[in-house]
Amino acid sequence: MSSVQEIKDRVDVLDIIGQTVQLRRSGASYSGFCPFHDNKNTPAFVVWPDTGYWKCFGACNENGDIFSFLMKKEGWDFKETLQYLAKITGVVLEERSPEQQKKTEEKDRLRDALDKTVGYYQHLFNKSNLAAAAREYVANRGLSPETAAHFEIGFSLKSWDALITYLADFGYTPDDLVEVGLATKNPESGRIYDRFRNRLMIPIRDDRGRMVGFGARSIDPQDEPKYLNSPQNALFDKGRTLYGLDKARKPIRVDGKAVLVEGYLDVISAHQAGYENVVCSMGTALTDRQMSQIKRYARQLVLALDADAAGHKATLKGVEVARESGDREMAFDPRGLVRTDGQLKLDIRVAPLPEGLDPDDLIQKDPKEWETLIDEAQSVVDYMIDVLTKDRDLSDPKVKSEISDAIMPLINDVAHPIEQGTYRQRLATVLRLDERVLFPDVKPPAAAPKQSKGKDKWKSRKEPKLTPSTQLLPDRPAPAANDHSTGAQRYCMACLLVQPELLPGIDRRLREIGLAPLATEDFADTELQLLLDAVSASLRQDTAMPTDFIQDNLDDFLLDRYQRLVDTLADIDLHSEMRQRNLGETVLRVRQQNINRWLNELRFLQLDAQSDDDEMAGVYQTEIVAQISALARIQRALSKQPWKSQ
Ligand SMILES: [Zn+2]
Repeated sequence: MSSVQEIKDRVDVLDIIGQTVQLRRSGASYSGFCPFHDNKNTPAFVVWPDTGYWKCFGACNENGDIFSFLMKKEGWDFKETLQYLAKITGVVLEERSPEQQKKTEEKDRLRDALDKTVGYYQHLFNKSNLAAAAREYVANRGLSPETAAHFEIGFSLKSWDALITYLADFGYTPDDLVEVGLATKNPESGRIYDRFRNRLMIPIRDDRGRMVGFGARSIDPQDEPKYLNSPQNALFDKGRTLYGLDKARKPIRVDGKAVLVEGYLDVISAHQAGYENVVCSMGTALTDRQMSQIKRYARQLVLALDADAAGHKATLKGVEVARESGDREMAFDPRGLVRTDGQLKLDIRVAPLPEGLDPDDLIQKDPKEWETLIDEAQSVVDYMIDVLTKDRDLSDPKVKSEISDAIMPLINDVAHPIEQGTYRQRLATVLRLDERVLFPDVKPPAAAPKQSKGKDKWKSRKEPKLTPSTQLLPDRPAPAANDHSTGAQRYCMACLLVQPELLPGIDRRLREIGLAPLATEDFADTELQLLLDAVSASLRQDTAMPTDFIQDNLDDFLLDRYQRLVDTLADIDLHSEMRQRNLGETVLRVRQQNINRWLNELRFLQLDAQSDDDEMAGVYQTEIVAQISALARIQRALSKQPWKSQ
């Protein structure tokens, strides 16, 4: 590969252009204000990260690649630009020696042998009587002749030297064929023979469509192994290749999602059914380099793997690879791989296939079911909890600690505090452990890594924080570690636990003044949120007194908190009506506090947006107006009502 190509493959175009132009994603591309002509009203400058191409749709109409961008912006010549980019991408620039030139030509010559072989195998598949069983196999898999042609499916004769003989006519020696994995050399006799015999041949191309190797499936059930791949060689790097990516690349880029299956034929069959975002790895666990490849095109990767133990193992191995990946660009998040700068992320999901079905079976049986499976793929943590606890004796302390040891590192890696809290709870609940036992030294989650202003903005644009609940994020406590709820919040919850039937009245009052009913978002810590859920549930049933129902159905780890809250009211013997009033007032005060904090956050966002004429400024403004109006209504309600403090 040329140094220029290598640089282009490695360079982070968004990062470099992003230093000059504030980019915002719109679909598969990013846009911003053109740095080469004067216009700060229309974001006419567009960058496509996967190709590195950029273009101004405005007055200057400039366009080009990362090289021309830097040349134009910095006034450098090509050589200077090359040296700069080589330095930041770590590509070593060497003057091309005659030997190197020769090496490249040799590679091209060998690649040409692979291309000729594709045609040869394809011809045999289509025309040879000896390929009847192979054609039948393909037909039985439900693949049409068009699909077979599209994927260049071929057939290798049951012969020791058919390919060697065929390619000899083009000047290729048996040793050439060994070099690209088409032939094998017996180490003892030194005899060279065709590597693939009596097999269905599936050409493997790299993401740019260049031939790199073959996957081959046996036709005769006696032949082992069932699948035989080209060996690793100068053209075929298994750890980097994903089968089908040359064809899946575009569809993946369009909807941002890639699906990983286990077999070549699953890929082909999925494409035939119209699911063109499907690829597979080379019969091994995913490598970090394969992840990097996918990351160039996709934001989400769904692992659709067999329900059997091997499938689980492959998934877990993939997760492990992701976590331990030496790729400096990747930081693991159980939802996926997140680039450290937070700009692009690969969200990994797991879709375990129904027992006994492979993707091929499923797609042929019911394509809708396949779609549902992919759409509803689980996060890696949820999946791990399911897999590791399945059929285990969860009352055995040894089993509990084994499972928690395996999962806690993943949970601790979760960047998002609420998400982390949810996973902790789930693990604690599944293992029937107190969260404080499971996470004895939980600290408030570390602040997210500082991001540059531009990227922060990008993030907030993508997910505008428009619900009051999110204002709790920045100082969100680790659940159960310490209690960040205010006294007002605790008082509300205590009242509701003692008298759950007060809740509908509170909700009615909130609605009367145009506010949303009491919700988990009103409470800053997870235990209180769970207790509110319990209160609501107690009111939806009619088999027991609400208070009894709450006590009987609380998770063990909540009982202690429950008791402490209820105890705070033990000495206060209030008339029900009085308690309702107190509670009503306190709920409004909780809302008031929460809205004030949220407004603060909104104003920052708005200031940021206004400073660069962002249309989001308008959205923030609308939200601020709504919150101020809510605040005024609360104020009015508090002053009008004959509230009495306790
Ligand atoms: Zn321009």
